[in-house]
Amino acid sequence: MMDRVDCVVIGAGVVGLAAARALALQGREVMVLEAADGIGTGTSSRNSEVIHAGIYYAQGSLKAQLCVEGKRRLYAYLDERGLAHRRCGKLIVATDAAQMAALQGIIQKAAANGVDDLVLLSAAEAQAMEPALRCVGAVFSPSTGIVDSHALMLSLQGDLEHAGGLVVLNSALDRAACTQEGIALVAQDGTELLATSVVNAAGLGAQALALRFDGLAREHVPPSYFAKGNYFTLAGRAPFSRLIYPAPEAAGLGVHLTLDLGGQAKFGPDVQWVDSPDDLVVDPARGDAFYAEVRKYWPGLADGALIPGYAGIRPKIQAPHEAAHDFVIQGPAVHGVPGLVNLFGIESPGLTSSLAIGERVAGLLASARASG
Ligand SMILES: Cc1cc2nc3c(=O)[nH]c(=O)nc-3n(C[C@H](O)[C@H](O)[C@H](O)COP(=O)(O)OP(=O)(O)OC[C@H]3O[C@@H](n4cnc5c(N)ncnc54)[C@H](O)[C@@H]3O)c2cc1C
Repeated sequence: MMDRVDCVVIGAGVVGLAAARALALQGREVMVLEAADGIGTGTSSRNSEVIHAGIYYAQGSLKAQLCVEGKRRLYAYLDERGLAHRRCGKLIVATDAAQMAALQGIIQKAAANGVDDLVLLSAAEAQAMEPALRCVGAVFSPSTGIVDSHALMLSLQGDLEHAGGLVVLNSALDRAACTQEGIALVAQDGTELLATSVVNAAGLGAQALALRFDGLAREHVPPSYFAKGNYFTLAGRAPFSRLIYPAPEAAGLGVHLTLDLGGQAKFGPDVQWVDSPDDLVVDPARGDAFYAEVRKYWPGLADGALIPGYAGIRPKIQAPHEAAHDFVIQGPAVHGVPGLVNLFGIESPGLTSSLAIGERVAGLLASARASG
């Protein structure tokens, strides 16, 4: 007979770990299956490590709600556990007069999302904060910060294990069958498990995996696209102590400057649509476009100062040139499979939102159990 487990979470990225922790804290038995040989080796270690304020997202969207709630939960958690982070703030800068209107729009959008601490600054006020900056005006977001994402993930794993859960590495799920008795899982090594609840938090692989769930109607699995974001690191120290973002672009937030907790500056991510979720090499030639973008707000960037860094891939649901899609958190009420939650398109601000997504997932599975 197949081994029976209460909850199985597929994927030990920050979102899978947060969901697993939330389920374990509800008193449920939880096992996380991770294909790689460590936690958080996917998109969760290939991002900007920014705690987003919740500024840009459509009012009422999951991204807006879960970013604002996730930010609050995340700062409280990081403070309580003494995990490395800094509420450094960020400046969103207009580099020409046309972008000033966009800044006003950003303030209104943020207010609709419950982010009411943004401050509109004149060029002189912004330059008083960051003397190396060139702009015609800026918006300051004091609640934006940076976090050591790996320390966060280790802490989530610790909480999970403390509550009796476990993470099993080198365990890729191959397929599943949704049956009357539960969800029958088959790992790539042939191991079989029967689970009452399954959370598909496989990130870039979530749609491909869901298509291998027998009994889940295909109409519930959205298409999958990959938008790579390349980073270039700065040789030497940056003359900035806050994050600097240009007014946002269509598929990303523009080539921005972020700092890590050691003070190292990096620029990115850009947007490069790719065919494979494994296409992670940074083409040094893409740096040429970075110089032009960055010099719009930092004319002092020296020739040769940008070094190819790393890349991360955004798990997109929409094709290039289609409007940005919201997070998809799909429970039994949508797809009709008892005990299954699929997470699709958990791109930025997924790190910021992780604790809130975890609560949402655990809540969906608890309410499905209560009504089932
Ligand atoms: C360029 C870039 C910049 C970003 N910047 C920010 C930011 O500054 N702030 C922010 O809030 N968010 C940011 N994000 C978003 C954030 O990084 C993601 O939302 C978050 O990391 C997603 O976590 P996850 O757990 O869903 O996915 P992942 O971290 O990708 O984890 C999925 C895991 O599933 C595993 N897996 C896949 N298939 C299987 C299988 N069949 N069986 C078992 N395991 C499997 C993978 O190995 C992986 O470990 C950024 C994203 C990108 C791409």
